[in-house]
Amino acid sequence: MPPRSYERVADVAGALAAGTVDGAAYYAGGTTLVDLMKLDVLTPQMIVDINHLPLATIAEAEDVLRLGALARMSDTADDERVRRFAPAVAQALDASASGQLRNMATLGGNLLQRTRCAYFRDVATRCNKRVPGSGCDAREGINDEHAILGTSERCIAAHASDFAVPLVAFDARIEVESAAGTQTVPATAFFLEPVEHPNRETNLEPGALITGIEIPRSAAAANSTYIKVRDRSSYAFALVSCAAGVELAADGTIADVRIALGGVGTVPWRARKSEGALRGKPPGGEAFASAARAEFAAAKPTLQNAYKIDLGIAAMVRALETVTA
Ligand code: SF4
Repeated sequence: MPPRSYERVADVAGALAAGTVDGAAYYAGGTTLVDLMKLDVLTPQMIVDINHLPLATIAEAEDVLRLGALARMSDTADDERVRRFAPAVAQALDASASGQLRNMATLGGNLLQRTRCAYFRDVATRCNKRVPGSGCDAREGINDEHAILGTSERCIAAHASDFAVPLVAFDARIEVESAAGTQTVPATAFFLEPVEHPNRETNLEPGALITGIEIPRSAAAANSTYIKVRDRSSYAFALVSCAAGVELAADGTIADVRIALGGVGTVPWRARKSEGALRGKPPGGEAFASAARAEFAAAKPTLQNAYKIDLGIAAMVRALETVTA
């Protein structure tokens, strides 16, 4: 059913006023929203067009890089400040979707994109994320691309965003406006695992709006990379991915290391066990592999996606070797 109304807003206050109306949905690039409306997965009653809000600025300060929520993915990936400040962020954006989609899609929208689980996108199937309490047809169905970390009985869908992976690695903060005021939420706390309510994917309240993303300056972010493994070299979601950044001490040991994984978790997955295993150690292939295995020890694969363990370990080792070479 098409939406009953459309409203273009010019400022954040107007957006919040319109966005809190029951059945309202924010529209920016539209690359997820329109796609899912065509499939009847999303049926908003009112479209709130936020494309004219002044939220597309990218700015670098002494301690932080600030990305406006309406900056386009392609503009952000091409920005020299982003490429220098956190190469993994630019690389993750470059590796996302297709050129056409990157030209349309916004950073805020990318963080809120929905899962690619085929059952979520098919209204004839059972899916707890789409219809809470209905079941999960993926558990006994086709699940070779699903998650192996952070899964639950209720949902095993992998998080789809590339961009979110380095944000989680580098302790980015998501700036949110709502009727309650301005909030800054750590990226590591923004995404929710499907413990009780798989339909709730972030801690964003209804009507709240992402206005920006802040990445704190760090030597690890400046010396970072993003490795993405996928079925084809363009326009494909990650089977596994890894964002890694390392700062080496004067004696050559690892002073700081940040690692996050994509394609394997129900949320962008911060690899804290791997990080803990590497801090203070000399870099090297065996240390990297051992640290990677520590993270994947908690993996719960299905019969079809156990390959993601070895692939994820290899991606993490490759990323760490790249930034310590
Ligand atoms: Fe739905 Fe999650 Fe199950 Fe996929 S894995 S069918 S998204 S509940």
